Amino acid sequence: EALVARIDELVRDVPDYPTAGVVFKDITPLLADGAAFQAVVKEMAARVPGPVDLVAGMEARGFILAAPVALELGAGFLPVRKAGKLPGPTARRDYELEYGAATVELHPFTVPKGARVLVVDDVLATGGTAAATVELLEECGAEVVGLSFLMDLTFLPGRSRLAGRPVDALLEVG
Ligand code: IMP
Repeated sequence: EALVARIDELVRDVPDYPTAGVVFKDITPLLADGAAFQAVVKEMAARVPGPVDLVAGMEARGFILAAPVALELGAGFLPVRKAGKLPGPTARRDYELEYGAATVELHPFTVPKGARVLVVDDVLATGGTAAATVELLEECGAEVVGLSFLMDLTFLPGRSRLAGRPVDALLEVG
């Protein structure tokens, strides 16, 4: 489809970033193209599986997509941040990275019990960030209705880490 081809054209492959052997997907050329940025946001919003109260975006590139998707849906926006960025009280979840560990945090008082939440990020890689975010949201009483990514790196186990959840990606990169 035309949008998928356009995303593929505009996302830049950066070899050996941030470390040797990794090919980083750089979305800044896509964000800089007004028509493509708008089409991506509208498409992500159109493919949501059901009603949504909140759109959660992961720091930092997730924010860029999640906030306009939330506006498009008339939903609220929920920033999921790295450790230490939000003033307390926060709910937090630690998770393992390939090398090291990371933490996601949110403000639990912004998540009403039973809130229907869509999780949005730019790239699904190993799925660690998304899985930790889903667990954190559920601990806070939310119902995660789906996860939406711009790109799924299908050679990594992201989707299987999120098994049983509705996962959508505009572009699958094999
Ligand atoms: P995961 O936890 O391994 O799935 O990594 C996903 C997180 O790392 C997301 O928040 C992405 O923004 C970021 N990420 C991983 N790989 C890339 C990439 O190639 N381009 C941009 N962001 C990436």
